[in-house]
Amino acid sequence: MAEANPIQEGFLCPICHKDLRSPKKLINHFQDLHSEEQDILKSIKDFYGKAKKKILKLDDQDLETFKNEITLENLYLECSEPQPPGCSTSHTDFFKSIRRERLEHQTAETNKLVIRLDKLLRLDNTDRKQQEQILVAWLDGTTVNRCPSCAATFNIARRQHHCRLCGSIMCNDCSVFLSFERAQSIVVPVQNLGITNKEGTRGRENDNFRICSHCSDMLEQRRIVQAEQMMQPIITQLYAHLQKLKSQVDSLVELYQKMYASLTSGESTFQLQDAQSLKASIGTKAETIDTISKKICSLPILEPNPKVEMLQNSIRRATSNYIKDYLLTLPPLPSIKELAAIKENRLLRVSKEDNEQNVNTVKIKRVTVTTGWSPSSLENSVQSDTESDPLMEQINIVRNYITQARSAQRFEEVVALEENLRMLKKAYRQNQLAKTEETKENNYQLQ
Ligand SMILES: [Zn+2]
Ligand SMILES: [Zn+2]
Ligand SMILES: [Zn+2]
Repeated sequence: MAEANPIQEGFLCPICHKDLRSPKKLINHFQDLHSEEQDILKSIKDFYGKAKKKILKLDDQDLETFKNEITLENLYLECSEPQPPGCSTSHTDFFKSIRRERLEHQTAETNKLVIRLDKLLRLDNTDRKQQEQILVAWLDGTTVNRCPSCAATFNIARRQHHCRLCGSIMCNDCSVFLSFERAQSIVVPVQNLGITNKEGTRGRENDNFRICSHCSDMLEQRRIVQAEQMMQPIITQLYAHLQKLKSQVDSLVELYQKMYASLTSGESTFQLQDAQSLKASIGTKAETIDTISKKICSLPILEPNPKVEMLQNSIRRATSNYIKDYLLTLPPLPSIKELAAIKENRLLRVSKEDNEQNVNTVKIKRVTVTTGWSPSSLENSVQSDTESDPLMEQINIVRNYITQARSAQRFEEVVALEENLRMLKKAYRQNQLAKTEETKENNYQLQ
């Protein structure tokens, strides 16, 4: 594109656009080739003549006076003593009163447009043009010969058009088209966007309101102001993000501590890898938190303000303390060897307790054996039950869930599921015991 129509500079001929490189050559070229264009030739001569005079004059006289002024000023600065400040007046209130008036006017005008836009959106499609003119009076165009925006004359090819919001006249090129969808979003307050009545705009999505650039600018200005009001300063955005990450880390740390306690007491709810991967994600989040706080600390301060600077430094300090005191002091995980020892210890302890608790169970079993019930056949019957046992099926499903939850690092779920699994296993064991007893009783009856 740039090659097709490059920006030319130099001593260009206004007719054939050739660069003649000097005013003298340009004037000669013009006299030779475009002698019929006497008007232009004269104006070129005039222009260069004036420019020449101006430059020469500056060289001689103006430069001299300029030099004198500088020396005078220096002289004054050297001689003068510090002066008490003169009287001063604040014009802020005056400025504010003028600004308030203008803003109020602007707001009122814009609101008027928004209200009209709302009414325009409610029109049905029959006799649209007529209804539009009832809402907004259209300017009478009989005496308007040129487009007020671009000054092009109106004729059969360039017709008059009216702004649907203010009724003013313009040509097609100066019209702005506001889509119904856009108009809807302007009319509907942001908080209600979710529950807008879309019936009105459906099927007319390609339709637009023709409006003038003035009305369009006012609506756009309103949109910018609303967007700015909703946008928070960068430091606030970063800090909100930082706080969000911190609260995520807090719950992760809480879980890690639970996991650590469970692992070091020899429980099998969690695996060592669970705790390792959790610790790794805490580490990654801590790094991000650190980076954000550094960024907050190094945010450029537009207007020197000690309070802003203090705030930025405090956030950085508090964050590095948080990481140092809270995240770097997490208890280190046991090694695989240490963990194995812990587990073995627990197993010994638990089996001892189990033995004491399950004396009765053991007795029952012994009873079965002494009555001549073959233990091998009992085992077989349990085996065949396992496949169709609904409890066993459920146990397998829960085991599956646990694997899934674990790989997705949803450890809260793992805890709940493990608890569930324990209860299912207990129920299953009791069920099996009851069955054994039943068979045993049947056996007695048979005998
Ligand atoms: Zn030329
Ligand atoms: Zn125009
Ligand atoms: Zn308008």
